[in-house]
Amino acid sequence: MRFLCTNDDGILAHGLECLVRAAEQIGEVTVVAPDREQSATSHSLTLHHPLRPVRRGEHRYQVDGTPTDCVMLAVESLMDARPDFVLSGVNHGQNMGEDVLYSGTVSAAMEGLALGIPSIALSFAGGDLRADIAKLDEQVEFLVPLLRHLTSLPAFPAGTLLNVNLPPVRGDEIKGIRLTRLGRRVYSNSIQPMKDPWGRKIFWIGGGEISWTGSGDSDFQAIRDGYVSVTPLHLDLTHRDMLDAAERWWRAP
Ligand code: MN
Repeated sequence: MRFLCTNDDGILAHGLECLVRAAEQIGEVTVVAPDREQSATSHSLTLHHPLRPVRRGEHRYQVDGTPTDCVMLAVESLMDARPDFVLSGVNHGQNMGEDVLYSGTVSAAMEGLALGIPSIALSFAGGDLRADIAKLDEQVEFLVPLLRHLTSLPAFPAGTLLNVNLPPVRGDEIKGIRLTRLGRRVYSNSIQPMKDPWGRKIFWIGGGEISWTGSGDSDFQAIRDGYVSVTPLHLDLTHRDMLDAAERWWRAP
């Protein structure tokens, strides 16, 4: 089994190290990851300057680009052979509900999928990783059988990526795995007005309160209950029900 591991928190991130430690117990790992924090860069691609991969050891490269750049570069140029799976993460923080639209972690898995490679995004739903870091470490032993299971499904669903969120608990406190759907996230007070050092008004997106709505089978409910959440995602944003309803838009009035 050949894995491409990447992330959006940068090549030095502890979550990536945990993912690599787990994946190495199952197969051969190549790491191609951004050289710096790229969280919330979504599916952006670097078109206006070149990319310069720097080799950081055997099968390990840092790239001055986005998670999407990393996957594209790895698959098309840096790896000797195509990976069997793209694994992205483990992200420092949850990627649930609408988070998946902003997430570089999930977008790296989307890029893998777009290239025809089964892909899994993994995120640790702990609030403050410095406080929770020991818990993520203890989840590595849980990640091994989880990854082994997900990558040995007889037919990994075609055209689908799996979005995995890990609850902020110790590995032996995980209650189990739930198949989920995306919940809805509600942010309030998430834009902070501030002053720059020269007294001019600036705004910083972040902080605030996050609350969730959604059904009992949503990703956030699984995490709240102490379960691993696995949400199958696809890239086709077509609103199928609306397609039928929209038929009448074209009828003569
Ligand atoms: Mn991140």
